Amino acid sequence: MSRVIWIHPEAPPKPALGAPCNGCGVCCLAEPCPAGMVVSLKRHGACRALVWSDAEHQYRCGMLVHPSRYVGWPTLRPDALLNRLMRRYARRLIAAGIGCDADLDLDRDLDPRVDRETPEKR
Ligand code: SF4
Ligand code: SF4
Repeated sequence: MSRVIWIHPEAPPKPALGAPCNGCGVCCLAEPCPAGMVVSLKRHGACRALVWSDAEHQYRCGMLVHPSRYVGWPTLRPDALLNRLMRRYARRLIAAGIGCDADLDLDRDLDPRVDRETPEKR
C-alpha cells in the first residue's frame, strides 16, 4: 500500500533499517507506535506527539521531551517527577535507542529533498 506523508524539508533522509535513528520522522509520520496510538487516539496517520526541532534539524518524540503535554498536563514542568517517570516508561515502550526499525520504502522520485543532479552514493 502506498501513501503520502508530509515531511519537514530539512528533515534528514531515512537511514537504512537497523542504522542509528537520525530523527527523520518517517515512521511516526506514517503511523503512530503503540504509545503514539494512546496519545493520538488513532491507529493511522501522523502521531500527534511528533515534534520538529529547529535547533537539531530533526524530529523528536514528544513523549521523550515533555510527555505530560500529550496526556492532559501541558503546564507540568518537563523535569517534574511525573514527566521523568513517563519519559522512562515511554523510552521502553517505543524501544528508543535500538536503531531504525521502520521497514518502509520511500519513493525518491516524489521526495523533493533528493538532489537529482547528484548521483546516489553507494
Ligand atoms: S526510527 Fe527510523 S524512520 Fe523512525 S525516526 Fe528513527 S530513523 Fe526515522
Ligand atoms: S515514537 Fe513518539 S512521536 Fe513516534 S509514534 Fe511513538 S509516541 Fe509518537
